[in-house]
Amino acid sequence: MGIIRMKVKKLKRIFTLCFIMVPLTFLYGCNNSKENTSVSVSDTNNKTVLTEQISPVPIIYTKEETPKDTSSNVSNSNTSWNQKNHHKEFTLLAVGDNLMHLQVIESGLKEDGTFNYDHLYSRLKPEIEAADIAVINQETILGGKEFPYTGYPVFNSPTQVGDALVQAGFDVVLHASNHTLDKGYQGVLNTLEYWSKHPQITVLGINKNQGDQDTIKILEINGIKVAMLNYTYGLNGFTMPKNKPFLVNMLDKSKMKEDIRRAKEQADFVIVFPHWGTEYEYEPDKKQKELAYFFAEEGVDLVIGTHPHVLEPVEWVVSNSGHRMLIYYSLGNYVSYQKEAPRMLGGMAHITITKENEVTYISEAGITPIVTHYESTKDYSYEVYKLEDYTIDKAIRHGILNLQKESNFTLAGTRKLAKQILGDWKNLFHYPIRQDVKYSLE
Ligand SMILES: [Zn+2]
Repeated sequence: MGIIRMKVKKLKRIFTLCFIMVPLTFLYGCNNSKENTSVSVSDTNNKTVLTEQISPVPIIYTKEETPKDTSSNVSNSNTSWNQKNHHKEFTLLAVGDNLMHLQVIESGLKEDGTFNYDHLYSRLKPEIEAADIAVINQETILGGKEFPYTGYPVFNSPTQVGDALVQAGFDVVLHASNHTLDKGYQGVLNTLEYWSKHPQITVLGINKNQGDQDTIKILEINGIKVAMLNYTYGLNGFTMPKNKPFLVNMLDKSKMKEDIRRAKEQADFVIVFPHWGTEYEYEPDKKQKELAYFFAEEGVDLVIGTHPHVLEPVEWVVSNSGHRMLIYYSLGNYVSYQKEAPRMLGGMAHITITKENEVTYISEAGITPIVTHYESTKDYSYEVYKLEDYTIDKAIRHGILNLQKESNFTLAGTRKLAKQILGDWKNLFHYPIRQDVKYSLE
């Protein structure tokens, strides 16, 4: 059955959550403008702010053709549309691994025995809330109190982590990770049960049945349909129950090829969130590059990767057929209790997606480096900062310095690493995306 949900969302915009079952797609008339999503992009490099304007193929109206200004007839929910240019857009924000080690779990334990994790997101909440779609990779399963809460290597996290994600303003939660089966089938079931109480959240990567897995998850924002797909490379040696092969989405090329094909039929813009790569490497590995090429060839518009626990580069990939795709290879950790300096640096991706005369394209893109901060206090004093807001005063109190005597965690070192991985230091802390990097296999 197809489900269409209308919800009043942040910034007073109305989103349609449109879960479309395959056999019924024709009923909803989802716009098929996929052939138009590949557009030429000019190489404007003159903007030195957070994001960089990227011009699509210019569309020139004659005076007669210019659409009439119908703003007086437009409801408040559509005020972000530029009616004059048939221009619609939405913003997407994404962060990396929400990696709930035992110390992160303990950081939310209150004196009365309850848990609250709002402190992990409070510093970035204004931006998370402001984005039309905010995405986070929930690395660990929300198995809840049915199991003991555990950290590495077999994680189980309180459902109150989910409460904090909702509170922070996240809209999409990625659940396909190598830790998804850490508490087996029941852990996934508990997670799905928890999220069923928050129907405004789009959960990707885990499925309650085959029909759920076969449903392409599509959000419609301001008249733009965006399909989102989430897969993991593996499950840390755990195997899926034989009679439940649909439970977790795996990076399987034939399955992904089919999903992407259907996503392109049903949506204007296709995003893949792969859980992949080599841990602690600052560069994409061979498999990531091969899959990047595959995604570009299949016509994916945007790829946002997670898992390596460190940042990896951002670049444009161009397929043989000329399709242009933006890829964030890894956003690093959002939060963790890891003990190595480079794993404190993560990234917050910002992308603006525009639809103009049936052409949907990335009009702005950027990445803001972020820092996981914890201290050696009883409650670990966890906070996640933008690197630009992080100070030497904070850096010298970072708990990592007490955990590893030889730790080289410093503010300067973290800035240097961000620059090393992300490239052009066009602005002190924000990184516009380079557009001149053409993909090549080796
Ligand atoms: Zn992982």
